[in-house]
Amino acid sequence: MADLLRRGATMLAQACPVCGSPLLKIGDDIYCATCDRKIVYSDEKETPRLQGSTSLPELRETLLEKISALNDALAKEDDLEVLTRLSNLLVLMLRALRELNNL
Ligand SMILES: [Zn+2]
Repeated sequence: MADLLRRGATMLAQACPVCGSPLLKIGDDIYCATCDRKIVYSDEKETPRLQGSTSLPELRETLLEKISALNDALAKEDDLEVLTRLSNLLVLMLRALRELNNL
């Protein structure tokens, strides 16, 4: 990020929709230094979106909500069979989240 700032980038008030880092503006382009990606704004909304993958932030949000809900369910569950199913699901969701972060 220091390199980008030296190249004349300015830090924006908006945060990256994926990682939450402050976005940088270089010329007319908006970048996330952490994700190392260009961020584009869709015309109809003010929400920053990743180029070519419009639903990723929403998907990440959904996964995080589900993981949080699963965590609550796991804490209350005592049935081993159900616990196994929930745990498997949790692993799958965490994997999906990791894949999403690597995109
Ligand atoms: Zn980012």
